[in-house]
Amino acid sequence: MSESAVPSPRPIRVPVRYRTGEAGETSRVVHMAVWTSSAVYLAMCGAELDGHRAEVVVSGMPCMPCVRELALREDRPDRSGRAVVAPADFRLPG
Ligand SMILES: [Zn+2]
Repeated sequence: MSESAVPSPRPIRVPVRYRTGEAGETSRVVHMAVWTSSAVYLAMCGAELDGHRAEVVVSGMPCMPCVRELALREDRPDRSGRAVVAPADFRLPG
C-alpha cells in the first residue's frame, strides 16, 4: 500500500469487497468505501464491511447503490472546486 501520509481534507474512498470465502460470490460486489476509526469500511451505499473480512481491489462487479451515490455526487464540486471523481474509480490503473 502506498497511502499518502498527509491527512486528506476529505475521506478517501477506496474500492473494497469481501475477501474470498467471507461472503457468497453474489455478495462480493465492489463498494466505494471510507475507512473508519472503528475498523470497518463504510460504503457509500451504507454497507459496513469488517476490515478483517474485506480487501481493497482494483476492479470487480460494482455495487450499484454505490455507483448511484457516486454519480449523484459527481455533479457537485467539492469545496476545492474540483469535481468529485467517480464511477471510473472502480477501475484504477495498473
Ligand atoms: Zn455499496
